[in-house]
Amino acid sequence: MLAIKGFKRDYDEWANLGNTRWSWDNIKPYYDKAFKQMQTSTYQSPMPTRAMVLAAAEAMGLPVNDHSVHLGYQDINLTINANQRFNTAKAYIVTANKRRNLCVMTNTAVERVLFRRRDGPKAIGVLLQNEQKLYASKEVIMSAGAVMSPQLLMLSGIGPKSVLQPLRIPQIKELPGVGQNLQDHLMFPGYLVKIPHLPIAVDAKQFLEGYCQTKDGPIGQIDIGEMVGWINTRNDSEYPDIQYMHMTMLKKDQILSRSMSQNWVSMKYQQIVLWPKVPRI
Ligand SMILES: Cc1cc2nc3c(=O)[nH]c(=O)nc-3n(C[C@H](O)[C@H](O)[C@H](O)COP(=O)(O)OP(=O)(O)OC[C@H]3O[C@@H](n4cnc5c(N)ncnc54)[C@H](O)[C@@H]3O)c2cc1C
Repeated sequence: MLAIKGFKRDYDEWANLGNTRWSWDNIKPYYDKAFKQMQTSTYQSPMPTRAMVLAAAEAMGLPVNDHSVHLGYQDINLTINANQRFNTAKAYIVTANKRRNLCVMTNTAVERVLFRRRDGPKAIGVLLQNEQKLYASKEVIMSAGAVMSPQLLMLSGIGPKSVLQPLRIPQIKELPGVGQNLQDHLMFPGYLVKIPHLPIAVDAKQFLEGYCQTKDGPIGQIDIGEMVGWINTRNDSEYPDIQYMHMTMLKKDQILSRSMSQNWVSMKYQQIVLWPKVPRI
C-alpha cells in the first residue's frame, strides 16, 4: 500500500559486501520501472491534521517534500489507482495474461529447487509438493518471502551444514548466512491527539454511500500513511533512524462504526525504528 524506496546506503552496503548487482545504481532503474508499472499516486488529506504536521515539520527546520534528501517529511507514494487499491496482479499479470509464455499456477507449493551439478551447481527447475517437476529454460527466480525463501533454499541444499546435515538434506552449497539475520522493524505506538472541531463533516455512512456511487472520497484513500517523517534523532547522519507515521483516524478507528456520528477525529503517532537494525531473537 505504501510504496517506499529503500535507501541508497543499504543497497551500496550489499554491493560493498560483494553482491555488486544489488548496488543502488543497478537497482534504481528497476524501482523506477516498478513505480511506473504500479501507477503509484500520492494523496493530500483534507483533514486539518496534515497541515498541522507539515507546519510543525517546517518550524523544526525539516525539509518537506524535498526528494533530493533522505530526511524530512514527504508525501508517500501509494499503490492506489483511481481510488482503488492497485496490486501486483493488476500491475503485472493482468497486463501480461495474453502472453503464451505466462502460466500462473495457484495452490501450487514448491518442495525444492532442482540443480544440475555438472560444472558447478546450476538451478534448472523446481520440484513441486505433488512430485511434479518443472524445468526452466533460462533461470529460476525465488521470491517466496522473508521466511519461506531461506527455508526453501535450505530444503534445496543451500544453507549451513549444521542445519542441513542432521536433517539429511544433501548439501549443494555451504552458505552459513541462509536463515540468519532476519530483522524486525520495531514500531512504538505513540500517542493520540483528539481534534474536536473539524472543518469538514465526518460521516462514515455518507463516505461509504459516496464511494459506492462515485468511487470517490476518503474511503478510497489511506489516511494512515499519506505522509511520512524521516528523522535522525541523533543528528549524526544524512539518513533517518526513525520513521514517523501520522495516522488520522476516525473515532474508535472504526470507519464503518455506528458510533461515528460524533464529529471528531484523532491523530495517532507511531515511530518505527529503522536504525540500528534489530535482529529477531
Ligand atoms: C500487514 C503488512 C502490511 C505491510 N504493508 C506494507 C506497505 O504498506 N508497504 C510495503 O512496502 N510493504 C508492506 N509490507 C511488507 C510487504 O508486504 C513485503 O515486504 C512484501 O510482500 C515482500 O514481498 P515478497 O515477494 O518478497 O514476499 P511475499 O509477498 O511474502 O510473497 C511470497 C509468496 O511466495 C509464496 N510461497 C511461499 N513459499 C512457497 C512455496 N514453497 N511454494 C510456492 N509458493 C510459496 C507465498 O504464498 C507468497 O505468495 C507489509 C507487510 C505486512 C505483513
